[in-house]
Amino acid sequence: MRVAVVGAGVSGLAATKCCLDEGLEPTCFEQSQDIGGLWRYTELIETGRPSLYPSVISNTSKEMSAFSDFPFPEHFPVFLPNALLLDYLRRYTEHFSLREHIRFGSTVVSIHKHPDFATTGQWDVVTEAGGKQTSHVFDAVMVCSGNFSEPSLPLQCFPGIERFRGQYFHSRQYKHPDVFQGKRVLVVGMGNSGVDIAVEASRVAAKVMISTTRGAWLLSRVFEHGYPWDMILNTRLMSLIKTNLPGPLSWWLINYKVNQWFNHENYGLQPENSWRVREPVLNDELPSYILTGRITIKPGVKEFKDNSVLFHNCPEEEPIDIVVFCTGYTISFPFLKESVVRVENKHASLYKYVFPPQLQKPTLAVLGLIKPLGAIMPIAEMQARWVSRVFKGLCQLPPQAVMEKEVNEKKKNQIQWDFISGQRAPRDWGKGFQ
Ligand SMILES: Cc1cc2nc3c(=O)[nH]c(=O)nc-3n(C[C@H](O)[C@H](O)[C@H](O)COP(=O)(O)OP(=O)(O)OC[C@H]3O[C@@H](n4cnc5c(N)ncnc54)[C@H](O)[C@@H]3O)c2cc1C
Repeated sequence: MRVAVVGAGVSGLAATKCCLDEGLEPTCFEQSQDIGGLWRYTELIETGRPSLYPSVISNTSKEMSAFSDFPFPEHFPVFLPNALLLDYLRRYTEHFSLREHIRFGSTVVSIHKHPDFATTGQWDVVTEAGGKQTSHVFDAVMVCSGNFSEPSLPLQCFPGIERFRGQYFHSRQYKHPDVFQGKRVLVVGMGNSGVDIAVEASRVAAKVMISTTRGAWLLSRVFEHGYPWDMILNTRLMSLIKTNLPGPLSWWLINYKVNQWFNHENYGLQPENSWRVREPVLNDELPSYILTGRITIKPGVKEFKDNSVLFHNCPEEEPIDIVVFCTGYTISFPFLKESVVRVENKHASLYKYVFPPQLQKPTLAVLGLIKPLGAIMPIAEMQARWVSRVFKGLCQLPPQAVMEKEVNEKKKNQIQWDFISGQRAPRDWGKGFQ
């Protein structure tokens, strides 16, 4: 069975490897010249563009981030600079001989159902390499193209932005803290990228404010008794508690745990709703930066004026020079028809976040379209194992109606991993944001 894998990031590598494990024939198409996806931040160095940050450190620990059959080298630190994470992915690629199955410099431009899809489940895949398009027929497809490609910039939610005379941009366009030198900076959105950018800006800017409508749980990488946060929060016990205790009790417990470092209410950061509402922000510096006045937390933006901003419930205007919108990303699959994967309101209609429920044949799956509380690698691997077994016919999906019910319920109770404030932006990472 021939399987097309789109993308050679974490998900695409796991997909390729799991296909091989099941005796399938994967061909992985990667638009860039190397593996690693978002972690290939060194591409910038190779291309001669100045490297802005010596490294970006992972949020999840190596213990919790490893693929199940390939541990991180012992001498690697617990939280990894992106270069080491990339090194790990390279080792994984070599160890399982994945490289020979990857076609670099090949962009997947379209994936359509083959005319006899209803009986064969096959797909017509068109790729482009060196300006030349090639058509292929595959028995199945794994889409592993990542979810940080289309910045979301909802300017219509910010009255007055059209007359603001300062500079504003999406976090994805952020290149270097020099742009903030001596300026008054407003960061809109309190997700990982917003906080990272604010902390960096505060080293050179005259003033830095973060505007947040809902607050966020802020966690230190170093958690109870010095353990990495994800080794404490992502245990079977914690997951049992989160899913089985009555809502108010589990809310109280989590509230207690995440307030041990500092009381979020005292810092103006207390999330307005429950634990399920927000992805936590990982940052070791923000509390002390707030205490020392380098960063100020502000409520939501009410209105922009020519050279200033008004916040809700604050009568005074704050003069500002630069606004960074850390407003997240929109999910998109430019090479797929809407009828294959429906995306509405930043939610892709996928059974268990993986399978489009309405296909006559379960021969297309999306991997890595998840924002877990913890590392993505083991989850991408589990998805890849499941998908390759479904492709092979060793696992059956439930009937369409059951899958659609699950999709609709998820949509209704969607965990608001809030893109406006919850997602860390890739900035200068791997994809080369020229
Ligand atoms: C700043 C930041 C920090 C993060 N920290 C962590 C962390 O600590 N732990 C963690 O688990 N996760 C973290 N993540 C999440 C991260 O997204 C995942 O770890 C992982 O990189 C996702 O891999 P992926 O393969 O799904 O997507 P990507 O890494 O985005 O890879 C997608 C690949 O697909 C290729 N591609 C896209 N479209 C096409 C096409 N049409 N044709 C061919 N190729 C295509 C791209 O070139 C790319 O190589 C972080 C993310 C960011 C942005």
